[in-house]
Amino acid sequence: MEHHTSPAQRDAQMGTTHPGRIEVITGPMFSGKSEELIRRLKRAQIARRRVACFKPDVDLRYHRTAIASHSAQTLEAITVPSVEALKAAFFEQEQQQPVEDIGIDEAQFFDDSLVGLTGELVRQGKRIILAGLDMTFSGEPFGVIPNLMAVADEVLKLSAVCMVCGAPAIHTQRLSSNQQLVMVGAAGVYEARCRRCFCPDQDEHHSEQLELPVLREKL
Ligand code: ADP
Ligand code: MG
Ligand code: ZN
Repeated sequence: MEHHTSPAQRDAQMGTTHPGRIEVITGPMFSGKSEELIRRLKRAQIARRRVACFKPDVDLRYHRTAIASHSAQTLEAITVPSVEALKAAFFEQEQQQPVEDIGIDEAQFFDDSLVGLTGELVRQGKRIILAGLDMTFSGEPFGVIPNLMAVADEVLKLSAVCMVCGAPAIHTQRLSSNQQLVMVGAAGVYEARCRRCFCPDQDEHHSEQLELPVLREKL
């Protein structure tokens, strides 16, 4: 049986280009952002679209050469230290073979110049799927993500399950006294919390006093 043509081949035949598309997948830690990003990119691969995936090199969980979800799904990815490095790595890939879908995980750790690069790529007809935290552990909008949400074609805001009460969780609670903002995905250091159970002041110095059973009784 003859294989169907790829979108790039079809465009070449028909002399058209795609308008491009920006998709943002956001929500707290454990909400399934990486899972959803991996799902979308795997479906793109099934559709014979060429995919490239990137992540910042702060995420040392499980793999340096793949993105990973808490449910152990993985997809090959290139680890880059900055937006500039991402751009260079992308154009290197693009030279070997045109890329149609670009995935970026943990996008909150890139600086504001990611908005400009995303705009540049979408104008070339690319589909860019960005996954990242919408809020910090203090409950504030997180870096570049709000700006990406504003310019996106589609925003998916996922919730996790509150580890105190089981309600839908929109916050990431930091449990440990570790001051590093960029610790990613370390189990027991962060957990998902709903609005009611989220206590941003309880991280850092106060963490020794944190007793979850007491919190649960108060509810
Ligand atoms: P994210 O990238 O948003 O941090 P992942 O895609 O890595 O999320 O992980 C999502 C998976 O994490 C879920 O499918 C589930 O198996 C697991 N998980 C662990 N804790 C929770 C929680 N509190 N709420 C929802 N899912 C959780
Ligand atoms: Mg993730
Ligand atoms: Zn709760």
